[in-house]
Amino acid sequence: MRVACIGECMVELSERADGSLVRGFGGDTLNTALYLARLGVAVDYVTALGDDVWSDEMAAAWAREGIGLRQVRRLPGRMPGLYIIRTDPAGERSFHYWRERAAARDLFAGPGAAGTRAALAAYDLVYVSGISLSLYGAGGRAALAETLAALRARGGRIAFDTNYRPRGWPDRDEARAAFRAALAMADLIFASVEDLDWLFGAAGEAEVMRHRGRAEIVLKVSGGPGPVARVLHGADETAVPAGPVARVVDTTAAGDSFAAGYLAARLAGRAPEAAAAAAHRLAGAVIGHRGAVIPKAAMPDLALRAPASDA
Ligand code: ADP
Repeated sequence: MRVACIGECMVELSERADGSLVRGFGGDTLNTALYLARLGVAVDYVTALGDDVWSDEMAAAWAREGIGLRQVRRLPGRMPGLYIIRTDPAGERSFHYWRERAAARDLFAGPGAAGTRAALAAYDLVYVSGISLSLYGAGGRAALAETLAALRARGGRIAFDTNYRPRGWPDRDEARAAFRAALAMADLIFASVEDLDWLFGAAGEAEVMRHRGRAEIVLKVSGGPGPVARVLHGADETAVPAGPVARVVDTTAAGDSFAAGYLAARLAGRAPEAAAAAAHRLAGAVIGHRGAVIPKAAMPDLALRAPASDA
């Protein structure tokens, strides 16, 4: 069983009060790949980098986490995208991007694209997010869709996470069309009601629910006493509430790690409800720490290696 996560990791600069910048790396599907690798899943990150030192450092960091690099293409003369996080005096963070020329956007263009597509179609499970879809433009998205259709024809599965960032899209109609196409292809859908409402307005939940029965759906609902995952599998629906988190420090990568916990548990043979509980546990640990990537020592033991008692 081999999993591929498709997307973009960028150079992250956090601006301090005195204007100095601290460098990190960040990207939604990369976070998911990292947590999958930590949970023992064989996972490759599928992206394009440049031939600069930051690209080298990113690749080295991913390899140290056990993420497979075989689908990382290097584009000569290109660089990764970059963003700055500013925190205003009230503690509110804002994100500012330089990513239009990022190497990752050309994953489905140029001479290496055919090789990437052929390799991608051979995976057992491919994880892609709404942010990944926004990277490639209409032509690249069509190439990705054809590749995923070939993967499904072979019996491979697709997981789609509805991460929606309005700024990544020229307009909402294009985003809606791309999301509808991805939802229709996905075997497993991670959706947040918040994303769906931004994108589809009041019809958001219905857009996802038309795939119930065919696809496994995890709908994350926040508000009320705490987050709840509504898990729809076949004719069954269960609501799995998140456990209490002692102190929410930073919600970066909450959804990304949630997806990794859920996927790893399902791949280990756990039932959907147990997978949602495992996903909440991992996300709960991640939001208790600063940044997207928590120390390894803080990883909760999801007991995925033990034989499943609930599958
Ligand atoms: P994102 O906005 O990154 O997609 P979500 O808001 O969907 O993230 O949250 C993902 C998961 O993170 C939730 O399902 C839950 O497990 C965990 N989580 C987020 N906020 C809280 C919270 N306040 N208390 C407990 N768990 C939380």
